[in-house]
Amino acid sequence: MVRAGGLVVFPTETVYGLGANALDAAAVKGIFTAKGRPANNPVIVHVADVDRVREVAASWPDSAALLADRFWPGPLTLVLPRCERLPDAVTAGGPTVAVRIPAHPVALALLHAASLPIAAPSANRSTELSPTRAEHVLRGLDGRIDVLLDGGQTAGGIESTVLDLTAQPPRLLRPGLIGVAALEAIVGPVMRERALTVAAPNESQPPRSPGLMPRHYAPRTPLECVEGNGAARVASLLAEGRRVGWVTFSDSPNPYPEVMARRLPSDPAGYAARLYAVLHELDVAGLDRIVVTLPPHGDEWLAVRDRLQRAADAN
Ligand code: AMP
Ligand code: MG
Repeated sequence: MVRAGGLVVFPTETVYGLGANALDAAAVKGIFTAKGRPANNPVIVHVADVDRVREVAASWPDSAALLADRFWPGPLTLVLPRCERLPDAVTAGGPTVAVRIPAHPVALALLHAASLPIAAPSANRSTELSPTRAEHVLRGLDGRIDVLLDGGQTAGGIESTVLDLTAQPPRLLRPGLIGVAALEAIVGPVMRERALTVAAPNESQPPRSPGLMPRHYAPRTPLECVEGNGAARVASLLAEGRRVGWVTFSDSPNPYPEVMARRLPSDPAGYAARLYAVLHELDVAGLDRIVVTLPPHGDEWLAVRDRLQRAADAN
């Protein structure tokens, strides 16, 4: 199916991907059409092993070799100079390509069977929540894909860390399951400030990283984040007669039986693993608003806070 130019949804260890042959421009354009994704938003290329990186990237710096050795297969995406033969649709016409080896047996089996690099962004409509279960994929993409490989709930729950190795020092484009400290232990200092200005879809320059767009990863139900406990905000929404969902921590009590409360683990990995599944669940519950008690500041919560703030920025 991938070899024939089709669209195949597959599980990875992060979220489900919407895949197509990365060397087939028409197939890659099909990804953008299915997602409603702006053409200036490049997609990640998945490969089966390190040797196949050379099919899509023009160079393989020592830092890439060290990181790949430590973290691949795994949720780390490396941005490298692109190969000329790669269709422009993959890179949004830019000079770089983002590549990783996923750590999921189904994804790896697909990559080996297709024997091709597979371009695959998350299998959701543009700006919406990423899918961590097959039913989430169908919410947005039913009728728009050729095959869906159902691998159950994905383990990681949020998207890969994206690190730009064409910048000096390397630049964190998207925080993810692999933390900055783990990267810095291998490649030294990483630039981590959030790039705040991002090109609008009609501007000619592609954004440095579309994951940095403020509106992203968002449920359809309006979502707001609160620092601190959040109970006061929930109470005031209830007083206005709103139907409220509340994402909070496993150790917080819920004094409001009428609220649809979901308690997540207090460790970052456990929280990330369940976050999108909980947001999808609340999103289909017919609520007026979802309130999220933010986790603490600090590097270990960077990726989770990033996703939550983007989900809220959409409103
Ligand atoms: P998605 O898989 O839908 O989360 O989107 C792919 C992500 O990959 C985007 O958010 C970008 O951050 C990143 N990306 C893909 N290609 C590039 C590239 N050439 N340069 C920088 N970031 C990229
Ligand atoms: Mg995405």
